[in-house]
Amino acid sequence: MNSAPGTVLVVDDQELMRDILGRLLRANGYNVITAENGLDALEQLHEQSIDLVLLDMMMPEMTGTEVLQRLKANPATCDIPVIIVSADSDIDRIVACIHLGAEDYLIKPYNSVLLNARVSTCLEKRRLRLHEQGYQRMLEEQVAERTAALRRSEAELRDQSILLSSILNSMGDGVVVVNMAGQLVHHNPAAKQILGNHLYSLLPNNALPMTAFYPDEQSAAYSPEHLPLEQAIRGQVVDSMELLMIHGPDMEHQWLNITARPLQGSGGLSGGVAVVRDISSAKQAELVLRESEERYALAARGANDGLWDWHLRTGRIYFSPRWKEMLGYTESEISTTIEEWISRVHPEDRERLETRLAAHRGRLITSLEHEYRIQHKNGTYHWMLCRGLAVWNEASAAVRMAGSQTDITDRKLAEQQLIHDALHDSLTGLPNRALFVDRLEHALTRAKRNLEYRFAVLFLDLDRFKIINDSLGHTSGDEMLMTVAKRLTACLRPGDTVARLGGDEFTILLDDLPNEQYTTDITERIQHVIASPLTLGEQDIFTTVSIGVVLSNPEYASATELIRDADTAMYHAKMTGKARAALFTPDMHADVISTLQLESDLRWAIEREELRVHYQPIVTLDTGYIVGVEALLRWQHPQRGMLYPAEFLGIAEETGLIVPIGWWVLHEACRQLVIWQDQIPAAAPLWVNVNLSEKQLAQPDMVQRVQNILASTGLAAHSLKLEITEHTLLAYGDITAQTLTQVRALGVQLCIDDFGTGYSSLSYLQRFPVDVLKIDRSFINQLGDNGERSEIVQTIIALARALSLQAVAEGAETLQQVNQLRELHCAFGQGWLFSKALTPEALETLVRAGAPLVQTSSLQLA
Ligand code: C2E
Ligand code: CA
Ligand code: CA
Repeated sequence: MNSAPGTVLVVDDQELMRDILGRLLRANGYNVITAENGLDALEQLHEQSIDLVLLDMMMPEMTGTEVLQRLKANPATCDIPVIIVSADSDIDRIVACIHLGAEDYLIKPYNSVLLNARVSTCLEKRRLRLHEQGYQRMLEEQVAERTAALRRSEAELRDQSILLSSILNSMGDGVVVVNMAGQLVHHNPAAKQILGNHLYSLLPNNALPMTAFYPDEQSAAYSPEHLPLEQAIRGQVVDSMELLMIHGPDMEHQWLNITARPLQGSGGLSGGVAVVRDISSAKQAELVLRESEERYALAARGANDGLWDWHLRTGRIYFSPRWKEMLGYTESEISTTIEEWISRVHPEDRERLETRLAAHRGRLITSLEHEYRIQHKNGTYHWMLCRGLAVWNEASAAVRMAGSQTDITDRKLAEQQLIHDALHDSLTGLPNRALFVDRLEHALTRAKRNLEYRFAVLFLDLDRFKIINDSLGHTSGDEMLMTVAKRLTACLRPGDTVARLGGDEFTILLDDLPNEQYTTDITERIQHVIASPLTLGEQDIFTTVSIGVVLSNPEYASATELIRDADTAMYHAKMTGKARAALFTPDMHADVISTLQLESDLRWAIEREELRVHYQPIVTLDTGYIVGVEALLRWQHPQRGMLYPAEFLGIAEETGLIVPIGWWVLHEACRQLVIWQDQIPAAAPLWVNVNLSEKQLAQPDMVQRVQNILASTGLAAHSLKLEITEHTLLAYGDITAQTLTQVRALGVQLCIDDFGTGYSSLSYLQRFPVDVLKIDRSFINQLGDNGERSEIVQTIIALARALSLQAVAEGAETLQQVNQLRELHCAFGQGWLFSKALTPEALETLVRAGAPLVQTSSLQLA
């Protein structure tokens, strides 16, 4: 048997035996190790790999049996085959050794063939056994390995399922798993939390009543086959279905978002899984938002507003049909670019709108609210109010901006009107006091910076406005003011300002005076244009203006001071004869103060009986005899002494005190004449001339008053002549004509006083029912030394004669004048040559004397 050689341990206490056995075995190719006793053998067995042991039974210290026992007892060596070598054939001991595990036995002396046979068989057996054992071990190892792998994967599985369930448990979304029968297999806590007991309502084949609506079919009733899990177990995928569940007696609404999938098992479809999310609050918010959006759209539609929605990422902007309509365009005429909007905005407003839009996009302003003008298709500009709000992303970039557009043209115009109205006079359209003061303040500031710059302030007051307004009515008054406003404006340069302060008061700012003369030129031009006749209705009205002038001066601190001084100068102009301009001087203040004092004194004059009437005789020029008297007013002032009309008539007229005073004079004069007529026979034919002021004439009950005075004093109407100045007649035209006709119907005669100073024409004279022309003193004054003047007087006298009027020469001071008047056939005269105005007592004496006032002998006879 050519077996593989093995290692054989020979254990024998006799060296000879060890040697013989060794040689025999080595000769057969075995590797031989020897041991001389049992302990040595056991040691060798542990140290070396030994295939077979030849063990001698009889050894001194440890018997072969003992070694065998130990060898077999040790698991590391128990498999090593042992052949017992014995000198005797004690069969019992051999049997015992066989029982102990010995493989075989040999009896000494050895038969080498037997030895080799036994050794090789034994080794062969061992090899077989080892081989068997190795296979077995391999099998066992494989099994063990598999078991271990199995255990490992079991643990992994366990870990995974723990993970899975902890994931499921921690999920905010509910997870519901059903089997093919629709029975609940699994659900996570979130499912229970979201759905509570209504979880079962989701299951297929659910018998519990439940109502569900789909958002797109609000009215559709619940139908089980629509349930997501029902669809899932039928193999369908349901993606993100929104489901409204209404449950409980309180009809609680719950919005769910459900995604369902079929579950695939090894044997095909095994059930279904649903992921459930409660979207009630999001849905609620969405509803609220949609409602508010709808409300906003509705409100915008209701308010007639246009809407725009600008997607900043795409740059596209949506304009609502109303937005386009507001600009006169149809739906298709305006595209979706921002240019459609911006390019139509008024060039002056464009930049500001763009800045505002950008500022809001950049979050510099919290909301957009801007007013601007935009061009309508028809070319006109409309005022729009644009409101807008942007939406920003996490990076603070605006992604969308939307808003409205409201047409505020009406409001804007009204606003502009309001601003205009606040600064302008509604009647004339001129700037009002506020605006004038503002412009004046600017001029003052400018004057402070620039010493070369000069300006003037003019204060104007119409001399006859109040009377015109009272007698002709407010419409005519208004018309007059408007005409005056136009005329004043026409006189000025564009930089000048004319304002109406109120009533008939105007102010003018002459800006940046070119020279000294300019102010004078302007005031003269104004006087001229105002003096030209003004047609109110069918009548021509004349008026004049009194002007106060102030030149700029570094001492003025405010506009109010300038206006005050201009007013003072105007007042001065008015008091010193009207129809003129007066340049302000500081002493005018004192004048004004004393005038104001006089004014307050005059109010008491009638009551305190300080007024007097003096009488100036009117004579026939032929004889010098007194034919009448003119009543002339005097004021016996307690401090100032006797005052003449020139000193207080202006105040009386301005304040309107002339009216009661005038009626008092008429009454006093009539009363006095009646006394004289009664008491002095020579006075019986005398008449009395009484002056009437414009304001008396303008009184509606003027005729009645005259009548009453005649009645109360008992004077015959033909003894009274009323004097009205030519200027008054010219100014009032037709109304005066009416009144005068009525007065004349009473039997009272009428005189035109100061005749020749106005511009009365023949036709004009014919319209008035007058009886007497009183030739103004200025013409009489110059008789004799001026041929032209005498011609005028001559013409007036001829005119009087032609119209059958009496002519009275006023202010005859010299004999020469009187003689010339007589030559011209002037019938009556009045003047210092004959007599000054006298106290009633003095006149009475004169009348009683009954003598002619100028010696006829001194008169040149015609
Ligand atoms: P008048 O109606 O032209 O009256 C004549 C004025 O001339 C009077 O002045 C008279 O004194 C003055 N006079 C008369 N003869 C001469 C003369 O030879 N030389 C000069 N230089 N003057 C002469 P008087 O009294 O100062 O009155 C001035 C004006 O006042 C009057 O002018 C008249 O318009 C007005 N007046 C006077 N009394 C009244 C009145 O009771 N009512 C109204 N409304 N006005 C009055
Ligand atoms: Ca007079
Ligand atoms: Ca006169």
